Formats: sequence, C-alpha cells, structure tokens
Amino acid sequence: MIRHQTLRPPEFVYPVDPWRMIEQTFYEKFLPQTETIFSVANGYLGMRANFEEGRPSHLRGTYINGFHDTWPIPYGEEAYGFAKTGQTIVNVPDGCIMKLYVDDEPLYLPTADLLSFERVLDMRNGVLERNLVWETPSGKVVHVRTRRLVSAEHRHLAAICYEVTVVNARAPLVISSQLVNDGWKPAENNGDPRKASPLKEPPLVGELHDFEGRRVRLGYRARNSGMALGCGADHVIETECPHRVETSCDADLGKVVFTIDALPKKPVRIVKYLAYHTSRTAPPREMLDRVDRTLDRAVRHGFDELLRCQREHLDRFWERSDVEIHIDGEMTGEPDEIYQQAIRWNLFQIFQATARAEGVGVPAKGLTGQAYEGHYFWDTEMYVLPFLIYTEPRIARNLLRFRHSMLDKARARAKELHHKGALFPWRTINGSEASAYYAAGTAQFHINADIMFALEKYVNATGDLEFLFNEGAEMLVETARMWVDHGFYNPRKLGQFCIHAVTGPDEYTTVVDDNTFTNLMARENLRFAAETVQTLRVEHPQLYKKLVHKTELEPEEVGEWRRAAEKMYIPYDDQAGIHPQDDHFLEHEVWDFDNTPPENYPLLLHYHPLTIYRFQVIKQADIVLAMFLLGNEFSDDQKRRNFEYYDPLTTGDSSLSACIQSIVAAEIGKMDKALEYARYAILMDLADIARNVSDGCHIASTGGTWMVFVYGFAGMRDYYGHLSFRPRLPSVFRRLSFPLQVRSRKLRVTLERDSKTITYLLRQGHDLAITHFSERIPLVEGKPVTREIEIIDLPSVPAGETARM
Ligand code: BGC
Repeated sequence: MIRHQTLRPPEFVYPVDPWRMIEQTFYEKFLPQTETIFSVANGYLGMRANFEEGRPSHLRGTYINGFHDTWPIPYGEEAYGFAKTGQTIVNVPDGCIMKLYVDDEPLYLPTADLLSFERVLDMRNGVLERNLVWETPSGKVVHVRTRRLVSAEHRHLAAICYEVTVVNARAPLVISSQLVNDGWKPAENNGDPRKASPLKEPPLVGELHDFEGRRVRLGYRARNSGMALGCGADHVIETECPHRVETSCDADLGKVVFTIDALPKKPVRIVKYLAYHTSRTAPPREMLDRVDRTLDRAVRHGFDELLRCQREHLDRFWERSDVEIHIDGEMTGEPDEIYQQAIRWNLFQIFQATARAEGVGVPAKGLTGQAYEGHYFWDTEMYVLPFLIYTEPRIARNLLRFRHSMLDKARARAKELHHKGALFPWRTINGSEASAYYAAGTAQFHINADIMFALEKYVNATGDLEFLFNEGAEMLVETARMWVDHGFYNPRKLGQFCIHAVTGPDEYTTVVDDNTFTNLMARENLRFAAETVQTLRVEHPQLYKKLVHKTELEPEEVGEWRRAAEKMYIPYDDQAGIHPQDDHFLEHEVWDFDNTPPENYPLLLHYHPLTIYRFQVIKQADIVLAMFLLGNEFSDDQKRRNFEYYDPLTTGDSSLSACIQSIVAAEIGKMDKALEYARYAILMDLADIARNVSDGCHIASTGGTWMVFVYGFAGMRDYYGHLSFRPRLPSVFRRLSFPLQVRSRKLRVTLERDSKTITYLLRQGHDLAITHFSERIPLVEGKPVTREIEIIDLPSVPAGETARM
C-alpha cells in the first residue's frame, strides 16, 4: 500500500507527447521538480535543468560521476569498525550560465513579459531545448532559443547553442557566458538523511586558471580526496551583427562577455562547448591539457555534428530498449500516450545515468542531484542491471567489472570486521564503506549476494564465460567465504545454517536474525560459487590454477559452501502459512496504520528508529522481492499468502518498492494491485510521488519501471538463463511490445489486447527456445510464433492519488 500524498501539477503545463517532455508555461513553483526532470546527462557528466540565466533556481548542479570529496564522519559515540570517511559527490563549476541583457535589462523569467515559452526534453534527440519570446520593458521583442546536450559520443563534453534574435528593433545585447565555481553550500539537510551534503567547507581548491581567446579554463583539487578536476569552456559566435568579446578568468569564475549591436531580425548564435576531466592520480594541469583536446575537437566538429551523433546514439538506444505501450484512454480517462511518455522518460533516465558510466558505478540519483551523496548502492545490481543485461550487456559488464575493481577494498573491509572473504560496501563511491548508520547500512550484508545474483543473471543472459571465469569467479570465492564465515550451524535450529545480525532490504526492521531474503540470496551465492569453481576445476584447469593463486582457495572450501547452502535455514511459519521476514518478525506488534496521518510518511522522517523497529511495518519489498528474484523457490500458494500478508504492512516509503509489488501482484493474479503499483512506479518521479524529486531522480525505480512491463505484465522469468513467459494483459493496455537481447540473439515480444495474443519473434540469431506457460517453443529467425493470452478485464485503472506532471 502506498501511503503518500502526491503533488498534482496542472495538466496544461506538461502536455502528453510520446517522445518529449514538454513544459509550456514557465511555472516557478515547479522549478525544483523540473530541474531534475529536464536534466541532461551521459552517465559521466550531468547537469540539472537550470536556466542559462542562472536565476531563479532551486539547486544549480553539475556533477561528474565518481568525482567526490571526503570528510571525517562525526560520531557522538564511536564504535569499532564504524565507517570513518564520508564521501560526497561534488557540485562542480557550472558552465550553463549565459546571462542575457537587452538594453541592459536582464532576462529574468519570473518577471519577464513572456509572449511565449516552451521547454522540451527531446528523448529521441537527447537534447534539452527552450524557446521563448520576451518583450522587454522598452518594447523590444526578443526570440531566445537554447539547445543543450551532454554528449553520449564525447564523454567529457557538453554544449549549449544559444540563439538570440531581436525581432523588431536594433538593440544593444550583452551575453555573459560563465563557468563559475559557486555551487558549494554548507550542510543543510533539515534532518532528512537522504539528502546531501555534509561537506563543511568548499570542496574545490583552485590550482590553476587561465584564458585565451574565447576559452577559459579552471583547474582544482578536491580538498580531502585529492582528486583533480579540470574544466573549460570555449565559444564560437556566428552573427552578422557587429560585436566584441572580452574574456577574463579568476580562480572561481571564467567569463566570456559578448557585447553585440543587434540588428533587427539578424540572429546571434553562440555555441558554448564545455569540457570536464577528472582523475584520482593525474594532476589538475594534466586535466587542463585534456580539456583543451576535448574542446579543440568539439570546435572542429561543430554543434550540428554533435546533434547528429547524439541522435545516432539515441536511435541505437531506442532500437535496443524501447518499450512500446498503448493504453486505452477511453477506459482510463487519460490521454492514450500518457504511459508511453512516462515509460520512455524512465528509460531515458537510465540511459542518462549509465551510457558512459565507464570505470564508475551508477549513483542512486544518477547525475541529477546530490542526494544520497552520489553513492552507489545495490540499486545498480538489483534494479538497473536487469534492463542493461537484456538491452546493452556491454554496460552491464562494465558495471560488474567496476565492482570487481573494488574487490581489494571489500577484502579489507571484511578483514576489519573480522570476516573472511570480502564484504562489499553498502554505499560508496571509492570502494570504502561510507554508510554512517550501520543498522541500515553495513548490516545489509545482502549486498554481497545481490552483486553475485546480478553476475549470474548477466552470465546466463550473455554467455560471457570469460568474465565469469576471471573477475566473476574471484568475486564468487570471496563472497562465498564471507557467508560461510558469517553464518553458523545452529544447534537450536537442528544444525541448520543461520545468518544472524543482518539487515534485509526492509530498512524499517534492522539487525535481525535470519532475514529470509538474505538467507535465500546467500544460498544462491554459495551455490553459484561452488558450481563455478567446480566447472573451472574440471574444465579449465589453467584458469582454476590462476584463481587458486589469486584467492588462495583451498579445495575443501567448496564443500563448505555446498554444505552451508544445503543446510541454509529458511524461516517458515506453519501456523501462519507464510515466510516470516526474519526469525522474530511475526512476534512484533503490527503498526497502527489507521492512526498514522498521511503526512507522517515516510515514517523515517517522523519517528525514532526504535519506534519503527518495534513494529511490523515495512519500508520496501523484502520477502516480496525474494519471491520475484527467486520465485522458483516458492510455491504459487506461498507467493499468494506471503503477498497478502506483507502488502498491507508495506509503506512504500522507499521508491524501490512499488515496481516489485507490481510484478508479484501480477504474478499472483491481483491485477488491480499490479496496475496500481505500476502506476506508482512509472510516475514515481513525474508525479513526484515520493515528494523529493527535487533532490534528483530515483534511478532504481526507473529500472524497476522496465521490470514492471517485462517481468510484470509480460510475465517473463529467467531462472538459470531460460526465458519463460506467463503473460496476463490488463484490458487497459491495447498493446505492449519490447525487444530483448539474449546471448546475442534479438527477440521481440508483443502482446495485443484485441487479438488476445502474444507474439515471439526472433529477429536475429538462432537456437533460442523460450517457454510460454508450460509449452517449450524453439524459435526460428524471422518466423513469429503467436499464442493466445488471457486479457484481464478491470473496470478502470485505479487512479490512486497520483497525477502526472
Ligand atoms: C532504500 C535503499 C536504497 C537507497 C538508495 C533507501 O531509501 O531503502 O534500499 O538502496 O534508498 O536508493
């Protein structure tokens, strides 16, 4: 049950369009939300949708994935093994600013007389565009068009094309283009632990700055982490209007000022190229050399070429990933394409968070805000990787490889906590644990199994044994070791293998014994590790030797993993006929939902943890998530009973919940619930359901949206790499169609209401069999296979309290 109140922005401001997010009126009230929703990024560099004028803004933000500063975490009372060093993504110098003055009057949207205004995030072109017509107090009519992109082709590059035409008169124009380092603000999170940033002093220390022609360059070091940053801006002006240019630069502000004598109807076009480079090891001076190279190349190519490449990238992205969904607006009373727009926006956000995330992870907010401090959580493996694995496995591999690059730190952390093997950090940027609240942080040991679960899914879906046998195997050995060391054979539980003092996904119940999710996932981790090592030993002795050398693996260890897996204790309550979330969960009193006012959600902002922990109340899918991931371990009846028990206890206070609740509800035939949760998941950010989209997008939920359609309504499951489908289409959907890539084969799945069919088409490749309900279907390239499906009639979509943006 979702217990939030939601925001309802007026429909007319944000009309429906299948490929574009459109804002038709400047509405200052929604600035905090639109800055996030219209942001542009490429997985390395991201910019919130701040206006070029610099003001008004809720939060001006430009972020580089992985570029962070560190700070000592202050504890009132220390304890052994607490994470010591905080890590926070830095708000780097803002290059978006291009201030416009006409007759010395600044363009300031809240007071400007706007004859028209439109802002569009074009998801096919990967460009944010704004068109406005401003009538100045002296009657000059000025057309301003801005286009902005963060290049998917050139990882370090962003560009803004700023075009101004004075339509009806001659006028003095000034455009002051800036690259400014003023984004730092002291900590101020009003008690909300999800927000950033605990930095107490400006994180960037200027080392170099200079300018030449129309180019400015700034070089910094992050105060404590020592990371180097170089950024620069170059400009190209095209106009018939007479003009002059002045450039200046100090440590925190590079400025290129264009003073133009604008002639009527003669456009002025300035293209601003922005480059950012960062490094953990090389100095800022070297970053500036790299900035020069990026800028030189960009200027040589020109803006139109950047647009062309961007489009090509996006064309390839949509070809691999688009989910086409047509709803029946007559049944829902909504525009037909409302979900199409929303699902595309969610997928586009995954693109923006991951496209060029090379050698880094995926921050919980992507690069749209500083909340959660730019940290990488399990969100990546559990919520984002499934999409990537089936649409762009190369990126999935990069992200898994990035986890592998942190293995030494995970080994060190395990050692610090007196564990064998490796323990991956609950939240991190640089590989060290950065979670200050261990109960809802470090205690989530399940992160180890989550990463290995994603590895298994990746290998099954791609057949990439090379990765499995090298990086994968090493991680499997170390994570399996951790479980065997952490758990024990409990004589009070008939010698079963128990795992105590852990926190499962539900952060409203912490440090518990035998969290069912954790035990099931750990068992899968142990089994997969044993199986992989055995295959290596028998079939690839050379690789096995290498693995033994890297991990000092002893032959008997594999047997220990098998034994622990076989003996794993999985809590089950015969009386209630359900799996308890943990060994003692059912002994708690149920939270008094009836007397909890809606404004007290999320509970974490209104109750002390000890109050929450006393009750049966759940932040996010836990058992229900296990039933999705490891559905083959539960009977249909167990799934139904567990869902019915846990659903009313689940607040959905985390955005990671709705998508999973939707998938499992669909599986057990509760279509009304499946739809309601689907709606929450899809509109999580667009309708600001969690009421904090101003802090950034919920990237896990965007990945969850894809899962809602593929795993939920199309009913796909991929246990051990075999694809099966149990589709059930609610009658509000006319059509649902999506591509999948499996072991280099290209598949398209299409569900249609009117013909009551599902069609499986192998578009490319051979030797692929899928299962439709219980029928095994071998697919032949180019030959569609159609089967009848059940269409579930529902009176209407339960609209809940949501509204779109
Ligand atoms: C959730 C976690 C999640 C984190 C970052 C928290 O609210 O409880 O499961 O990893 O947000 O998205």
